[in-house]
Amino acid sequence: MLVFKFGGASVKDAKRVRNLLEIVKRFSDNLIIVVSAFGKTTNALEELLELSVDNTPNCINKFETLKSYHFKIIKDLFPDENHIIFNEIETEFEKLRVEIFEKQYDSYDIKYDQVVSFGEIFSTKIISAFLNIQKLSNKWIDIRKVFITDDTYREAKIDFELTKVKAKDSFSFSESKIYLTQGFIGGSEKGFSTTLGREGSDYTAAVLANILDAEKAIVWKDVEGILNADPQYFEETEKLEKLSYQEAVELAYFGAKVIHPKTLKPLHNKNIPLFVRSFIDPEGEGTKIDSFKKYDQNLPIFILKKDQMLISLFPKDLSFIIEDELSKIFQYLSEHRIKVNLIQNSAISISFCIDNANNKTKQLIERLKKDYKILYNDRLELLTIRHYSVDAIEKVTKDRKIYIDQRSRHTAHFVIK
Ligand code: ASP
Ligand code: MG
Repeated sequence: MLVFKFGGASVKDAKRVRNLLEIVKRFSDNLIIVVSAFGKTTNALEELLELSVDNTPNCINKFETLKSYHFKIIKDLFPDENHIIFNEIETEFEKLRVEIFEKQYDSYDIKYDQVVSFGEIFSTKIISAFLNIQKLSNKWIDIRKVFITDDTYREAKIDFELTKVKAKDSFSFSESKIYLTQGFIGGSEKGFSTTLGREGSDYTAAVLANILDAEKAIVWKDVEGILNADPQYFEETEKLEKLSYQEAVELAYFGAKVIHPKTLKPLHNKNIPLFVRSFIDPEGEGTKIDSFKKYDQNLPIFILKKDQMLISLFPKDLSFIIEDELSKIFQYLSEHRIKVNLIQNSAISISFCIDNANNKTKQLIERLKKDYKILYNDRLELLTIRHYSVDAIEKVTKDRKIYIDQRSRHTAHFVIK
């Protein structure tokens, strides 16, 4: 059994959905296909929600635009105007309208999940019905009834024991060879929709692969595989043939956007290889992630994380920053879900580099000012070079102002402007 994952870019229009069909046709294995929302639908739903909270009048226009975008794809894919999918999606959009404009919830985060989870419901219903009319018979699964989570809305944690039982039952391959389901979303025990964190569909695919002991998982992307640098920021890039799970976790953690950092653990735990392949060139071999012992590709890997903030704290009375103080600071960061990407300390100071999430960082700074003298810089970049050489470092840091230079045996980090 194989698990496939198709992200938003791979299903952003009717042509790409047809391309998905062609890819799936090449395989005769039992298959679970995990799909994200069409294109940038999740962002659009987030915007809709923001607008509706402030009661902005053009909210309803945005809603209609999102609806037309979906119906344009449906019309292109389904020549029969009486196909039931037209009604089904109409009904789902009506449910979405009620969630956005009528329902009230105790918190923004609960409402967020009820609204944003519709993206994957739309896309998977449409694709499942399309594959069916193309004689690729498949069963649509509502993963909200399978992935049972806690109610940490927007960052829900899966209850593995419950989910295992439900997944084995729902994906039994007794009535179908192909299942199609949603990435990114789940459901709480109370019956609300939840989401697993932005870009979380890779993780869904990995969890399903783990529970159902897949032979492998394939993530279909618009790049030929995992490259040694992001072509958006670096001129020369090369594809990496293979990577160990550990290496892949390091890359994902430090900001390589190809795979979600949470994806690797469920696969590694069961030794399931993960392939990153191109949906544009499905013949290509892509990159294989597996239990490789050593990195043997003689290529430095460059990862750039933008929009970083470097904060340095100094105690007002020159006392040492000791464990108690550190734990207080980290407690705060963890409670506010602020991700720390790098730390450096001395006897009387600590510096850390975080993702700059405007509101949260403002509050953080206000909070820290009470106890510390504080210096900070924003709009910095965190550059990580795995398997670095002096040349590689020179090439990418020359003409840049370096705030922190931190090197270990295989990895160099630079906070730069
Ligand atoms: N559609 C969701 C998002 O854009 C999940 C995903 O694409 O993986 O975050
Ligand atoms: Mg997406």
